[in-house]
Amino acid sequence: AKFVYDFTEGNKDLKDLLGGKGANLAEMTNLGLPVPPGFTITTEACKVYLESGTEPAALRAEVSQHLDALEQKMGKKLGQADDPLLVSVRSGAKFSMPGMMDTVLNIGLSDASVSGLAAQAGDERFAWDSYRRLIQMFGKTVLGVDGELFEEALEEAKRAKGVRVDVELDAADLKSLVAHFKDVVAKETGRDFPQDPREQMDLAIRAVFDSWNTDRAKLYRRQERIPGDLGTAVNVCSMVFGNLGPDSGTGVAFTRDPASGQQGVYGDYLQNAQGEDVVAGIRNTVPLADLEQIDKASYDELMQIMETLETHYKDLCDIEFTIERGKLWMLQTRVGKRTAGAAFRIATQLVDQGLIDEAEALQRVNGAQLAQLMFPRFDLGAKAETIGRGIAASPGAAVGKAVFDSYTAVKWSRSGEKVILIRRETNPDDLNGMIAAEGILTSRGGKTSHAAVVARGMGKTCVCGAEELEVDTKARRMTTQDGTVIEEGDVVSIDGSTGKVYAGEVPVVPSPVVEYFEGRMHAGAEDADELVKAVHRIMAYADRVRRLRVRANADNAEDAARARRFGAQGIGLCRTEHMFLGERREMVERLILADTDADKDAALEELLPLQKADFIELFESMDGLPVTVRLLDPPLHEFLPDITDLSVRVALAEARHEKHENDLRLLQAVHKLHEQNPMLGLRGVRLGLVIPGLFAMQVRAIAEAAAERKNAKGDPRAEIMIPLVGTVQELEIVREEAEQVIAEVEKTHGVELKLTLGTMIELPRAALTAGQIAESADFFSFGTNDLTQTVWGFSRDDVEASFFTAYLEKGIFGVSPFETIDKDGVGSLVRNAAAAGRATRPDLKLGVCGEHGGDPESVHFFHEVGLDYVSCSPFRIPVARLEAGRAAA
Ligand code: ADP
Ligand code: MG
Ligand code: MG
Repeated sequence: AKFVYDFTEGNKDLKDLLGGKGANLAEMTNLGLPVPPGFTITTEACKVYLESGTEPAALRAEVSQHLDALEQKMGKKLGQADDPLLVSVRSGAKFSMPGMMDTVLNIGLSDASVSGLAAQAGDERFAWDSYRRLIQMFGKTVLGVDGELFEEALEEAKRAKGVRVDVELDAADLKSLVAHFKDVVAKETGRDFPQDPREQMDLAIRAVFDSWNTDRAKLYRRQERIPGDLGTAVNVCSMVFGNLGPDSGTGVAFTRDPASGQQGVYGDYLQNAQGEDVVAGIRNTVPLADLEQIDKASYDELMQIMETLETHYKDLCDIEFTIERGKLWMLQTRVGKRTAGAAFRIATQLVDQGLIDEAEALQRVNGAQLAQLMFPRFDLGAKAETIGRGIAASPGAAVGKAVFDSYTAVKWSRSGEKVILIRRETNPDDLNGMIAAEGILTSRGGKTSHAAVVARGMGKTCVCGAEELEVDTKARRMTTQDGTVIEEGDVVSIDGSTGKVYAGEVPVVPSPVVEYFEGRMHAGAEDADELVKAVHRIMAYADRVRRLRVRANADNAEDAARARRFGAQGIGLCRTEHMFLGERREMVERLILADTDADKDAALEELLPLQKADFIELFESMDGLPVTVRLLDPPLHEFLPDITDLSVRVALAEARHEKHENDLRLLQAVHKLHEQNPMLGLRGVRLGLVIPGLFAMQVRAIAEAAAERKNAKGDPRAEIMIPLVGTVQELEIVREEAEQVIAEVEKTHGVELKLTLGTMIELPRAALTAGQIAESADFFSFGTNDLTQTVWGFSRDDVEASFFTAYLEKGIFGVSPFETIDKDGVGSLVRNAAAAGRATRPDLKLGVCGEHGGDPESVHFFHEVGLDYVSCSPFRIPVARLEAGRAAA
């Protein structure tokens, strides 16, 4: 295998092999953009190293060969004493990953070459500044020395000189700082800072490989569902210098605003600076637009390049660049992260610009982003005390208790508190706390700071750079400009869409996107929100191309009406057990306690009109659309009082010699119905078979409701669904009884009802014998919640709290199978059962109800296996519509 690629050899489609950074550096090189020459070591080399513990045998020679070529091109050798070639060693995996090794700049500098660099540049200070940066970065990231030790030494040097920022240190100061840094390295590692340039480079390369498996990197991968075996590439890139004085500098830019999608000039620039100075918040950056005054030629060239990149990538790009004495260099680009709102706006803008088509626009957004846009926002009309304002870095309205460190954020959130993580600035060590927090607030850093970038990636609310807030993490408090103090535990509210920070809890209101779906805001209105317009267009694209229909899980008219507004094409699951609760619970008790058939019938008689009234409302609100009604499913004991409460009541009554006959009977019933494994017990179709008259009553309520709607000129389309069937015989018995009842009702009301009768497929046996079951079913609805429970043998109510975390940590799942369908196991049963069912009955209607129906990845799977519809909770409907469109596009 070839392990090393020159930048001229790669291209943007080789991300698997060259990582994102390497692939895009190659792409820019081949576009003729000014990229400093270099080469990329492949992820394959990294994989070999990670598996075997040593670099592949051929790697050294290949690196030497590419280094030779680079030296030739540059006309100098790595670390050459009188004129050193310097390089950066940069990590770069397929997916950009905070938490991996930081870049090491200025590799090749040594005691011998530092004066050569000074002479060549005619700048003594610059050379020593570069050298101290090398020892600092190399010491921290390659040799594992605590970075604080260098920071402290630097602070001390500034203090001793009485200056505030590092640019005020002169050559002599930096030279003695270098000596100090070298002492730190020697003391901490027991060896001297390596003077051999090639050794520096090789150690840095190995450190990049190793950084794939740091805890932080692993945590991030889990969070983002990135596979653990991809490995990282390593980029070796010849150095250009932004720290050569005021006509040099470094910056970051976006081709359009990653928060709103608006086109314009967005970015930050820092004069006389190197590498990450610009994002580290150590000095104040200037807005990119100011570069036009500072260096017009470079600014114009950059604008030109940004346009080239946008048209080439057909998407928002983010960019890192450096200017060395008036010459612009491109150091990185990639298709940039963006907020959910910006994703929708950018997708439609690009369609309008003719850069992409509608099908591509659908791929530029996703259901998770849409879900995020449906979060509520702060009520701006409410009285709220603004205590500061920062940069709106990642939208959302977050309320929580102030915490000032990652540890407390995690601890408090574990005990159920909502927290806002407040830091001066964040770094990769804060990742755990950021995950745990509702939102993140920093007092320093811009739109491209660590906090902003990571929060956007996680879809977490973030306000950064709120400079008037003084954050004291040691004292765990924050002070506002007018002297208000926010202590740890005080509630604050932060608005990631406006950058505002409030003391106390601010009430929240629904998002405009929800207002739009609710029909309270119209995309066509002149003053319609740009975001609403974009969402409207994207939803229209999705609805146009999708094959899967989307239904709602809804049990009452109110939910049904909302579902319809959100675009539901019917109800896929109406759970009738919800109609047995509240004051009706007593009737169920009577049913359970009935000693004689007459008592039992009387109890059912009582329930009938109530059920019927519920169905009439439901059919009315879903007029013309299918409504799947599931007959009673849960174990009966769920309708009875808790066994402990009841025992106490009985014991108390006994002690007081009070009347307690009824409670005693109840208690006996509870004992009788008690089951060790209720989920596998007397429930579903088994109830219908064991309690005569129960299902008949429910079927009658459905049929009579449908008949009344029909006679009122409605268009009811009820479908009766039998839960927990394991064999076709169960279904046949229930069907026979149901058909009799329906025929009776049709006769009395003089209508033809066209009710269909189908079953849930939620037991492995049902899935395995789907071909037989289809003989007696008009439709299947896959109950993937129970199917997952029974296929895995997991109790859904228990496992998430008990061992799932361990399973996730060990990588047995990337995600809970209750959240996203397990394609290989549960999914393969669904696929086969669908095929077997259709083999028996080609017109068999197939759907899925349960949590998976609104999960983006699962929706794609259900599309692929050919189901007719998915059913999910009303709020997930837009997400399911969008994902069904994306799956078909
Ligand atoms: P990250 O993955 O954290 O963005 P990079 O490898 O892009 O790390 O390096 C961070 C910064 O270091 C770059 O944005 C750039 O400013 C600087 N840098 C990297 N390589 C070079 C180089 N060859 N010359 C000058 N600056 C560089
Ligand atoms: Mg970095
Ligand atoms: Mg970078």
